Amino acid sequence: MISVRDAQNHILARVTERTPPELIALTDALGRVLAEPVRAPFDVPPTDNSAVDGYAVAGDDVPAAGTRQLAVVADLPAGSVFAGALARGQAIRIMTGAPMPAGADTVLPQEVVARVGDRITIAPIARGANVRLRGEDVRTGAVVVEAGTALRPQELGLIASLGLTTVVVAQRPRVAVLSTGDEVAEPGGPRKPGQIYDANRFTLRGLCEQSGARPIDLGVVPDEREALRARLLEAAAAADVVITSGGVSVGVYDLVKAVLAEIGGIDFWQVAMQPGRPLAVGRIGAAHFFGLPGNPVASMLTFLLFVRPALLAMAGRRRLFPEAWSARAAEAMPKKRGRREFKRGVARLEDGVWTVRTTGPQGSGILSSMVAGNCLVVLEEDRGDVAPGEMVTIEPLGPPE
Ligand code: AMP
Ligand code: MG
Repeated sequence: MISVRDAQNHILARVTERTPPELIALTDALGRVLAEPVRAPFDVPPTDNSAVDGYAVAGDDVPAAGTRQLAVVADLPAGSVFAGALARGQAIRIMTGAPMPAGADTVLPQEVVARVGDRITIAPIARGANVRLRGEDVRTGAVVVEAGTALRPQELGLIASLGLTTVVVAQRPRVAVLSTGDEVAEPGGPRKPGQIYDANRFTLRGLCEQSGARPIDLGVVPDEREALRARLLEAAAAADVVITSGGVSVGVYDLVKAVLAEIGGIDFWQVAMQPGRPLAVGRIGAAHFFGLPGNPVASMLTFLLFVRPALLAMAGRRRLFPEAWSARAAEAMPKKRGRREFKRGVARLEDGVWTVRTTGPQGSGILSSMVAGNCLVVLEEDRGDVAPGEMVTIEPLGPPE
């Protein structure tokens, strides 16, 4: 038996390849991982500009006490530039975001100014008030978004604000996904007595996409040596990573191990975890291979713990694991010492405290527990039964940001 942490470390030590970069349109870049940092091609903001609607004046014209009258000589909407320069005794009406006119260094908000005709009366205000300075947000050449960042809408907007329309991102790792088992039928087709419809290929394809990878669907393979061998070789030729579900436990039809031993290399691990446990990790040619358990919850969970970090690493992501949180257990949770257990949980804020309960039956075939849950309850190896009120670790199901 090896621990979850050791299994993760072994995998990340093996998966050292990084996908090559590619140049894509910013409009196609949501969720993609930056392969190079984005640097500012100019100062942001590019000029000193007004932070409010009001009147731009010279600090020297602002009275130290009492009031003073100034002449309004121009109107400056956002997007226009004042051609001349402000002379003594003059003010310019200015809109938020408009560049500061030459000669002005201070803006009085319109609410504090009395205007009659083209004259305004102003009172004391600090020199430089209400002016956003050139480069105060970002300096030319500064890194605005770091390499290894998965692009969210806010990064897309920030990059666009620099005038850029393309980004260099890591190519998405290609992942061949196949299900194994004579009992597994294709949804949409007939289901013979004793058969179940395939669930795992659909959760695993979704998990690949959610992890920034490109799934290649290679269907269901029967428990038959030659068919499995041919399909695995086809998968390895087309993908960076090959994932199977089913066929890695100790049943007589568990051919994955045997076939892998012939066409690649394989290690077969018993991971001290529940659900999950059997996990095959190896290579077929240049492709990495992960043989996940067949039970639907176990295959999802082993993907989240072992395959997702590897896919994120291949794309150069900086963060490979989600943030852990702490929550109060609302109910007793049975736990066997010596292994890491993952319950599907529902966490919510109750009376100001994060509180978690399990989704109900926790069998590793009960996929509805994943549907009902919004987090995993992670019960560490050295922990025994959890009593109501104890604090436990929870993790979101989705990938890290
Ligand atoms: P195995 O790991 O092949 O022994 O499978 C363990 C359990 O998972 C069995 O009950 C299988 O029927 C079930 N199972 C295997 N593959 C799938 C699949 N693709 N979708 C749903 N259940 C599966
Ligand atoms: Mg099977």
